[in-house]
Amino acid sequence: IVHWPFSVVQRRKLSWVQLAGHKGNFKAADEGNILKRFSENEMQCFEKLKDDALLPFVPGYHGTVEKDGESFLHMTDLLVNFDLPSVMDCKMGVRTYLEEELVRARERPKPREDLYKKMVEVDGDGPTAQEHSQRGVTKPRYMQWRESMSSTNTLGFRIEGIKKCDGTCRTDFKRTRSRQDVIQVFKDFVGGNVNIIVRDTPFQKLTCNHCCSPWQVIGSSLLFIHDHTGNAQVWIIDFGKTTALPQGQTLKHDIAWQEGNREDGYLWGLENLIRTLESKCS
Ligand code: ATP
Ligand code: MG
Ligand code: MG
Repeated sequence: IVHWPFSVVQRRKLSWVQLAGHKGNFKAADEGNILKRFSENEMQCFEKLKDDALLPFVPGYHGTVEKDGESFLHMTDLLVNFDLPSVMDCKMGVRTYLEEELVRARERPKPREDLYKKMVEVDGDGPTAQEHSQRGVTKPRYMQWRESMSSTNTLGFRIEGIKKCDGTCRTDFKRTRSRQDVIQVFKDFVGGNVNIIVRDTPFQKLTCNHCCSPWQVIGSSLLFIHDHTGNAQVWIIDFGKTTALPQGQTLKHDIAWQEGNREDGYLWGLENLIRTLESKCS
C-alpha cells in the first residue's frame, strides 16, 4: 500500500486549480471559499441569481470583501467537496465578446501587440498583412479568431482547460475544433465513464430553465468536476460579461447571432455539448 503523505484537508487545498483568466484574478479565502477580482457586472449577476431557478447551479456567493486594498467577490470553492478532482472548463456560446466591444473597436481601434504575439504563436498565418505590419490586433479581432480556430463558432462551446486527477493540466486547446477532436478530449476527461457527468448530474435540467431569458450570457463557462469516489457536478461560472437586456427584451439562445440581435447561442451550444458527450463518449 502506498500512503499518500498529505491529510484530506491538505489534499483539498492542493487541488485548487485555475483553468482560465489572469493568474492574479483569484486569491485564497477562508476554508471552502475563494476570492475573485471584483467586477460590477458579475456582482449584479450573483445578486440577481439569488432569486433564480439557476441558483443551485452557480457557486455560493457571500458578498464582496476588501483585501490588500482591492475588492473581491467572495464565493464557494467548488472543488472543496472533492478528493483529487478532475476539472474541465467549457466556455459556452457562439460568441465570446460583447457587441459593444465590437463597436468600440471599429470606432477607435486599439491594436495590441500582446494579442498579436499570442495569435502568431498558434498560427503564423493568422494575422492579416496589415496586422503583421502594425504588429497588433484588436481585442474583438483576436477573440473572433479564437472562436474560429476552436469549436465556438461551429459547436457553440469550446474547451478552455482540463486538470486531471493525476495533477496534469492542459490549456492548449486553442485549435480543438472538430467534433472528433472534442470527443477525444471528453473521453480522456471522463476516463470512459460518460455517465459520471451526463446522467449522474442535474445537467439536463439546465436546458429548459434557460430558454427565452432576459439575459445575454457571454463568456460564461460550465465547470465539470468529478473524482474517483464517483462524486460529480456541473456548475455555471464566470458572469463577467453576462448582462441583463434592456427592459422587455429576451433572447432565444438557440438561433444564429447577427450583429444587433445580441443572441449568444448558449442553448444551441449546450445541446451540442450534451449530444457530443452522449453520442460517442460512453
Ligand atoms: P476568463 O474570463 O478569462 O474566462 P475569469 O478571470 O473571468 O477568466 P473564471 O473564468 O471565472 O475567471 O475562472 C477561471 C478558472 O478559475 C476556472 O476555469 C476554474 O478553473 C476556476 N474557478 C473559478 N471559479 C471557481 C469556483 N467558484 N470554484 C472553483 N474553481 C473556480
Ligand atoms: Mg472564464
Ligand atoms: Mg470571465
